[in-house]
Amino acid sequence: MNKQQVFWSRVLQLAKNKLNQGAYDFYVENAQLLSISSNRAQIFLDSPYKQLFWDQNLKDILITAGFEIFDSQISIDYQFTHDTPEREVVSEPIEQLQSVMQQKSQQPLHPDIKPQYTFENFVQGDNNQMAKAGALAVADNPGSLYNPLFIYGGPGLGKTHLLNAIGNWILGNNPHARIKYVSTETFINDFLEHLRLNDMENFKKIYRNLDVLLIDDVQFLRNKASTQEEFFHTFEALYGKNKQIVLTSDRSPDYLDNLEERLVTRFKWGTTSDITPPDLETRIAILRNKCEDYPYDFTDDTLSYLAGQFDSNVRDLEGALKDVHLLANLKQLTEITVDVAAEAIRARKQTSPTNTVIAIETIQQEVGNFYGISLKEIKGAKRVQHIVHARQVAMYLAREMTDNSLPKIGKEFGKRDHTTVMHAHNKIKNMLIDDKNLEIELTTIKNKIRH
Ligand code: ADP
Ligand code: MG
Repeated sequence: MNKQQVFWSRVLQLAKNKLNQGAYDFYVENAQLLSISSNRAQIFLDSPYKQLFWDQNLKDILITAGFEIFDSQISIDYQFTHDTPEREVVSEPIEQLQSVMQQKSQQPLHPDIKPQYTFENFVQGDNNQMAKAGALAVADNPGSLYNPLFIYGGPGLGKTHLLNAIGNWILGNNPHARIKYVSTETFINDFLEHLRLNDMENFKKIYRNLDVLLIDDVQFLRNKASTQEEFFHTFEALYGKNKQIVLTSDRSPDYLDNLEERLVTRFKWGTTSDITPPDLETRIAILRNKCEDYPYDFTDDTLSYLAGQFDSNVRDLEGALKDVHLLANLKQLTEITVDVAAEAIRARKQTSPTNTVIAIETIQQEVGNFYGISLKEIKGAKRVQHIVHARQVAMYLAREMTDNSLPKIGKEFGKRDHTTVMHAHNKIKNMLIDDKNLEIELTTIKNKIRH
């Protein structure tokens, strides 16, 4: 098998795991991979209306398989007619494959953008309509309409999701766009690190030669005078060249105290949109959207019940679905009733709300405790199997439970490369597909981390 065939059979395998037999037969059976080149896959579907299903349900699978096999982000084009008469998968000349692999090494300029956060899977409600519209407008016309775009709202309401969705959308239109997603915490550390190394030239190169800067949680700039100064110049440099800046914060610019006035003023230059907690109807819609990922039937009552239990935060809603999943798995249920849901979320109800930012070291510590391995070994270089496994679990959780970029996570694990983290993440994610024990282990560890 060539790489392309390996990729396609992996896609089919993941789709089979995810979908029920009927859906698989209908949507996937007749699909074909026509070609892959320059990280774009051409997929044949025998009807245009099947594309929506692929976009909504199989995109993450294609992306996962893309990372696994080609180690880079694959974008997808759908085709509904056959230009070529053969039904066979077009085999890809080795040189072409090599060029794909070479491009890969130049391409991960944005290993920090999470492919799973898209506009398609961002459920719209009255609470986030303006923010989503603003984000879409900016993604369609970076640097021209609203600059900067400032999105604010409480924790777990989708700010990070929207920032990444903007990034993914722009990259979809132009894979070569120079985009950076950065948490403010990372920006601060990056700045201090370059300052310490007397390497500000490089810092400027990284942050001032962008088409789009997506900066998350700018409230963390408060009280950081020297970083504020540097950020001001970064802002000026980008803004002056009509480059797009998108900022998020947990509060409106007017309430950002201990922040230089000139920054606050600039944050309001473009447009400001808030996200408020979703109403019941939107929460049900979000649950309905997310529960498609699970192989159970949720009754309408159950969805209303769950939506009624968590009213301030989408992250808690997602957590509730995961709790339900775990219990249903243990009990081998296929239908989720209100009683099951109530039992599943009992622990979460007692301990919520927990929206504190999780430190990577907390994750390393708890994973270490669970597997009986020291923090030093988790961060170290030993290649003994059980240590490697624990390390990979910790990397996976750091990716899943925090907003840190791959390079940042890599750095926290003894200065490893971001591709190591990506590999670990993919590996554990795939193991989870059919390893129930691992899933239970992870839930236990996660609960420890959160409390
Ligand atoms: P914030 O950055 O505002 O704290 P996140 O963007 O991290 O919040 O969102 C928390 C979780 O909730 C993410 O998994 C995100 O995908 C999900 N989420 C938030 N809002 C929505 C929405 N409107 N539709 C679908 N998922 C959402
Ligand atoms: Mg966030």
